[in-house]
This record gives sequence, structure tokens and C-alpha cells, in this order.
Amino acid sequence: MIKNVGIVGAGQMGCGIAQVSAAAGYKVHIYDISADRVEAGLATINGNMARQVSSGKLTDEERKKALSLIKGSADVNDLSPMDLVIEAATEDESVKRKIYGQICPVLKADAILATNTSSLSITRLASATDRPERFMGIHFMNPVPVMKLVELVRGIATEEGTFSTAKQFVATLDKTITVAEDFPAFIVNRILLPMINEAIYTLYEGVGSVDAIDTAMKLGANHPMGPLQLADFIGLDTCLSIMQVLHDGLADSKYRPCPLLVKYVEAGWLGRKSGRGFYDYRGEVPVPTR
Ligand code: NAD
Repeated sequence: MIKNVGIVGAGQMGCGIAQVSAAAGYKVHIYDISADRVEAGLATINGNMARQVSSGKLTDEERKKALSLIKGSADVNDLSPMDLVIEAATEDESVKRKIYGQICPVLKADAILATNTSSLSITRLASATDRPERFMGIHFMNPVPVMKLVELVRGIATEEGTFSTAKQFVATLDKTITVAEDFPAFIVNRILLPMINEAIYTLYEGVGSVDAIDTAMKLGANHPMGPLQLADFIGLDTCLSIMQVLHDGLADSKYRPCPLLVKYVEAGWLGRKSGRGFYDYRGEVPVPTR
């Protein structure tokens, strides 16, 4: 029975997962590498929930109640009472492996550890834990409070009890699940990221400008967001990591990350979260950077 939910990583996804878990009545603890990051994450959640109150999606009473259930710290020992820990740290296998090494000795023996990875092998990540049978992928979509889907992914050793507990937990968050096999990038990102990468190639080869490409896909394919706008929203570092996982894992040149995506990431232009990507977000309205 899940009562206490731990979240590792107070970034865009960790905050979203914390928010929906608290809104469903779970006690939540967010852990990140520094107190500053935790504070920034808690402030983001507060701001998001205040917006939900203004737009009538939540009452002020519900907001206060949910916020009172969320705590955070940069002390890994605070994860020890958790029944379920969802790791939502940077999409980098070495970072995740290091985190499991730090948190596993602290967790209860029967606690379930899940990862929100967008692309990495669940089986391989499980092998870096002390509990492969109680480890799996619970892959939320961004932004978590809005998107209905959660992909569930078993590793080779995931026990049925772990899977059914995760399934019940996700159902209490009012989300719909799909089950994906443990192959690079699962279902959503296996299909979505090559499309985004192709949009970046279209820009790189000069077929269209940022504005032309996004307008074309919004009005020509009825996508709610253009692919470059979506890439900025996901985070260009995350997009690049997913393409690298597809390229390495499936060994097909069709997954080659676009050199322009690599360049943006090397520049630290990571999209919305860093203030600049295919659009510049530092002014009143986003301005295309190409
Ligand atoms: P982010 O960059 O917004 O946040 C990552 C957080 O992890 C940061 O706060 C960072 O300080 C923290 N972190 C890094 N190293 C850490 C460590 N050693 N210990 C504790 N915390 C650490 O990234 P994000 O977009 O929230 O993505 C997080 C995860 O969710 C990734 O695995 C990503 O693939 C996945 N995901 C992302 C999206 C998306 O659209 N961005 C969607 C679904 C899943």
C-alpha cells in the first residue's frame, strides 16, 4: 500500500509528479542535489497550483491541502520512510546509476523504486539497484498535471506485484496507462523524437525557418504545438539524450541526432528551462532564434 511517495529531482517532471501525487492525497518528499533546487521546485509547484486556482481547476482549499503534503530536502536519508520512490533526475545513465547507489541503502527493503526515464533501458537501470524485482519504469508525460498518459515499462526482473502496485498508484492519479516493452524510448518517444529530430534537420538544411516549420506542422498536420516549440518544451538536452539512446540502442542511421541539435545543447541553449532554444524566451513573447 503506497502512502509516502519520494521524488528524486525537482526539475520540470519531478515537480509535476509531486504535484499530482499530493493532489491525490499522497505524502510527498522531493529530493534534489541542493536546497536551492528543492526550494525552486517547491516554488514552481506553488505557482502552478495558484494558476490552477485562478483558472478554476482547483479550489484554494485543495491547493493548500496538496501543498501541505509536499516536503523537500537535499538529504537522501529523508527518503527512508517512502513506499514508492520515482526517480526523475537528468536523463543521463551515469547520473541515474549514481543516484541508485546513494538511495538504495536508505530505502525500506520492500519499497518500490521507479524511474521516469524517457528512453533508457529499464533492465539495465535495474541492474544498478539492489532490487531489480521492485524496479520499473513509470513514464509520465510533460506537463504532468495536464497529460493523461503514463507509460508503464517492466524490466526483465520486474515482479508482477510491483507492476500491479504501480498500476494502482497511477490509476489513483486519474491517468491512463499504456504498457510498453523495454526497448529504447518505449512507445511515445520512439515515434515522437524522430519526428522532432527530422524537424531540426529541416531547419538545419534550410528547408524552412523555425516559424515556417512550426506553423506548417500546427496548421498542416493539426499538431497543437510545432515540433521545435515542443523540443524547447521537452528540453533540448533531453531530446538529444533520447536520440542518442535510439541511435546507440537500435544502431540505425535514421536515428542520427541532428548536428544542429547537438550545437544548441553544447551552447547551453536547452529550451524553455534555460531561457533560450529554438525560441528566445527572455522577452515578452518567444522569438525564433533562426
Ligand atoms: P530537468 O533538467 O528539468 O530536471 C532534472 C533534475 O534532476 C534537476 O533538478 C537536477 O538538479 C536533478 N538532479 C541531477 N542530478 C541529480 C542527483 N545526482 N541527485 C538528485 N537530483 C539530481 O529534467 P526533466 O525534464 O524534469 O527530466 C527528468 C527525467 O524525466 C528525465 O529522465 C527525462 O528523460 C524524463 N522525462 C522528461 C520529459 C520532458 O518532457 N522533459 C518527459 C517525460 C520524462
